[in-house]
Amino acid sequence: MSYCVKCGVELDDTAKKCPLCNTAVYMPNADISSNEDQAPFSQVKMIPMDAKKEFIASVITVLLAIPMIVCGIVNLFYRKDGLWSVYVITSVLLFWVIVILPFYLKKIRPYLMWFIDTAAVLVYVYVFFPLRNENANYYLTVALPIIAAVSLCVLIFIKWARGKERHWSSVIIHLAIDIAVISAVTGIISLYYSVVWGAVASIIVFLSVLSLMAFGIYCNRSAKVRAWLEKKFFI
Ligand SMILES: [Zn+2]
Repeated sequence: MSYCVKCGVELDDTAKKCPLCNTAVYMPNADISSNEDQAPFSQVKMIPMDAKKEFIASVITVLLAIPMIVCGIVNLFYRKDGLWSVYVITSVLLFWVIVILPFYLKKIRPYLMWFIDTAAVLVYVYVFFPLRNENANYYLTVALPIIAAVSLCVLIFIKWARGKERHWSSVIIHLAIDIAVISAVTGIISLYYSVVWGAVASIIVFLSVLSLMAFGIYCNRSAKVRAWLEKKFFI
């Protein structure tokens, strides 16, 4: 014999709902696999998002640490080509700082991440220049201005994007302007040092970004095109 958990009325053995107060009837010893809506507890596994995030980040961290440790140890025995493992280790560390570290932050902190990422790139490039026996002067005259341009563009973008809700077409235009500025800086520096491939690559990027910018402006102006695209891509 069973009773309603809410009002205590006696229930029929086949009742799914209390006839008096409409409370659902739960059968703790019922076969839950065949009768899912009657299960006394949720069948869906609920893992808090934060715990899941941190767990995945930790697994990736361990996976990344393995090649670093292996390369470091192998390098100790094969030193013919110098400290080649430093390339691997610093590259993996840079990837970790930029991609994995944000998963450990409780809240998204764009300015903090901007600062950390800029510092990480500065250190990364600084490690590379002396290793490749390149003139330290290049670091100051080539790497530093390019990193500064990228960093400044990212900072302005963060400030702009956080100001208020921005439409995706505006974001495309803004990103296109940023990439155009960066490629212009890179192009000018390449021309100054007569690095032909650098200048050519910058011009190609600059020109392709102009078409991206045109696309963004076109979408921004025409509500019809925006509506069509949003429908197509579920934006
Ligand atoms: Zn009842």
